[in-house]
Amino acid sequence: MKLLKILDMREYGTQGRTKRYCLFECPMCLEQLERVKTEGLKSAQCKTCTNKLNAKKAITHGSTKTKLYKVWSNMKSRCNNPKATFYSNYGGRGIKVCKKWDKSFSKFEKWAKSNGYSTELVIDRIDNDGKYKPSNCRFVSVSKNNNNARHSMVLKHGIDYLSEVCECYQNTDITQEEISVLLNISSASVSNLVTGKHNYI
Ligand SMILES: [Zn+2]
Repeated sequence: MKLLKILDMREYGTQGRTKRYCLFECPMCLEQLERVKTEGLKSAQCKTCTNKLNAKKAITHGSTKTKLYKVWSNMKSRCNNPKATFYSNYGGRGIKVCKKWDKSFSKFEKWAKSNGYSTELVIDRIDNDGKYKPSNCRFVSVSKNNNNARHSMVLKHGIDYLSEVCECYQNTDITQEEISVLLNISSASVSNLVTGKHNYI
């Protein structure tokens, strides 16, 4: 911070020590504060502004963006990369990502955020034979509370849901046991599935 004025020595801590205090100005909020000289010189801005900066960083680089970015890259991978776990159900049978989304994460992100995306949701295609495009996609929830409800979700939503869930597993906090219940298959199958050794369908 900018040093404005050298002040007096003041008691510091409990052991009778003293330290030099100075008047500083925070370059961000322009507030004037009295701080220990060494500490004031070391910090770029006041604590309030540091907290604000950190909060902003968390939003820009935080988990929401990372997770949505994963949704986007997994979607592209399923359609474009023959080595992807679920390629045979996507790219392998002609399912594509529309040009707009394929080229631009920010366009996908914009659509996702204005269509109710939140981190616990997975992407789902309405027409199972249609491509990934705004008019054919929505977000559905991975319910963690009701096993029957989850199983019927799988039946209802099909493979996109399954693959997203498994990719969620690879990237987040769903256990193999939960997937086993979710897909109504054995733990061994889940293990093979999430490690990409075989396809569920
Ligand atoms: Zn400040």
